Amino acid sequence: MNRQRGQSVTKHATPFYNPPVPMIQTLRFVLGDQLTRSLSSLRDLDPVQDIVLMVEVGAETTYVRHHKQKIAFVLAAMRGFAKSLADEGIRVDYVKLDDPANTHSFTGELKRAVARHKPARIVATEPGEYRVLDMMRAWSRMNDLPVEIRDDDRFFCSRAEFAAWAANRQSLRMEFFYREMRRKTGYLMQGEAPVGGAWNFDSENRKTLPRGHRVPVRRRPAVDPALRAVLDLVAARFGDHFGDLEPFAWATDRAGALAALREFIGERLHLFGDYQDAMKSGEDFVYHAVISPYLNAGLLSAREVCDAAVNAWRDSTAPLNAVEGFLRQILGWREFVRGIYWTRMPDYAATNYLNARRRLPEFFWSGDTKMNCLRETIGATRRNAYAHHIQRLMIAGNFALLAGIAPAEIEEWYLIVYADAYDWVELPNVHGMVLHADGGVLGSKPYAASGAYIDRMSDYCKTCVYDRRKRVGEGACPFNFLYWNFLIENEPKLARNPRIAMPYRTLGAMTPTERESLRAAASAFFESLGL
Ligand SMILES: Cc1cc2nc3c(=O)[nH]c(=O)nc-3n(C[C@H](O)[C@H](O)[C@H](O)COP(=O)(O)OP(=O)(O)OC[C@H]3O[C@@H](n4cnc5c(N)ncnc54)[C@H](O)[C@@H]3O)c2cc1C
Ligand code: SF4
Repeated sequence: MNRQRGQSVTKHATPFYNPPVPMIQTLRFVLGDQLTRSLSSLRDLDPVQDIVLMVEVGAETTYVRHHKQKIAFVLAAMRGFAKSLADEGIRVDYVKLDDPANTHSFTGELKRAVARHKPARIVATEPGEYRVLDMMRAWSRMNDLPVEIRDDDRFFCSRAEFAAWAANRQSLRMEFFYREMRRKTGYLMQGEAPVGGAWNFDSENRKTLPRGHRVPVRRRPAVDPALRAVLDLVAARFGDHFGDLEPFAWATDRAGALAALREFIGERLHLFGDYQDAMKSGEDFVYHAVISPYLNAGLLSAREVCDAAVNAWRDSTAPLNAVEGFLRQILGWREFVRGIYWTRMPDYAATNYLNARRRLPEFFWSGDTKMNCLRETIGATRRNAYAHHIQRLMIAGNFALLAGIAPAEIEEWYLIVYADAYDWVELPNVHGMVLHADGGVLGSKPYAASGAYIDRMSDYCKTCVYDRRKRVGEGACPFNFLYWNFLIENEPKLARNPRIAMPYRTLGAMTPTERESLRAAASAFFESLGL
């Protein structure tokens, strides 16, 4: 009897004939951030002989207590992706979180699936986390089966290619890596030269939002019954995790992610460059794309996003400074931090160059602080499981750096609170870019800034109880005395860094009494927070 490819196996009507149940040849394990039909582990899939395994496991939802919207996004997107595979006629073995037999670990669920299907081999795509890769490496021995772990080729630069680029270089700088990627892909290139005669247009990209300027409102996708079921599950099971569950901010399927990309390209990309560093009270998204959860989970590909942006420049709907600035984020930073992660892990996470040891203050969870910039950033984070780059870097991150928060504490916070946070991208951004805990592997200097920077790039200081012009004394902005205290505390390690020579010259001109008053203000502040 001929069975159509992918048709599910049912009992035959005549008692004398038992149709052959095809042997499962390959069990294909797909993780929650691998929701891409062209994924390397699905590419040669045979719908008759193969089965796709997807599992919702408790260990991954609670090993850190993720933001409710992050859990809902991943679960809803996984369920939607599994359905789209099944609609294609592919057999999917999907284990739900509330399945009573669920062992709640990847390894446990793989073992059970091997017992159910008795496959000849297992195929997976490499994960985005060193911890999980370590786990996968043990699967072959544990299941006595061949396990093939394939490259994740959804990136422009493979791990091997990055390692080759990084080998024998004294310092790894994003700018040079990015130029290599521009040459490799041909994006915004005219032969060997960058379009417009420059590799970046940053000098045009530091504008503040004019008074009264209205940012286009970002649309939120509707909640359908499948998403409703997931939201209810998350409310019941993870109700005590950080963050608001509703209104839910994210699309959970490819169509919704593509619609979000189209909305950004059509309505915001043209001003992305101008306002990429701007912050404004009540504007949670400004001109950012708000697509990182889709990119990281696989609902959008980096290539289609870059193509869409470059096409907008070709069609003259977005200027070069905007498109280059945007391209740099994806082709440059996103690929670069991944390369750093995989070439430096696992030792990378354990470094603590500035010997930062303080605990994370409670207000990072509650938002209960008088510092308006932090209240705005933490508030947006609670509402949306999202804050834009400058809030992450120059508000929450800058505070953690200046206050000397222990890397593991603040890294866990970032991993929990953002819907786009996966180890490969969160860790290098926080550990390297924000905390300088790697001693300068990822960036040549710490992004430390006082209240003056925050005042220049936002309207936060205007309504803050603190005075951003005061360094010490009653009502002084904490970012000011913390900034100088940070430079003093880390003088032996940072004073010779040419990129922060200017503030050290200013510090050098201070009297011992001035220095002492800054130190005292910082100490009193730490004490008031119980740090
Ligand atoms: C402390 C800190 C922690 C961060 N943690 C994460 C994280 O866990 N996950 C994550 O995806 N991004 C992280 N980023 C990078 C960046 O802030 C987010 O990618 C961005 O805010 C996502 O919003 P967007 O889609 O609106 O981005 P846009 O500002 O519109 O940028 C477009 C895209 O570029 C990419 N991108 C931009 N900057 C970076 C970067 N530094 N590293 C990697 N990709 C980048 C993202 O894919 C983003 O979607 C972090 C940055 C900092 C400073
Ligand atoms: S005055 Fe200081 S604490 Fe207040 S918003 Fe400005 S930078 Fe933040």
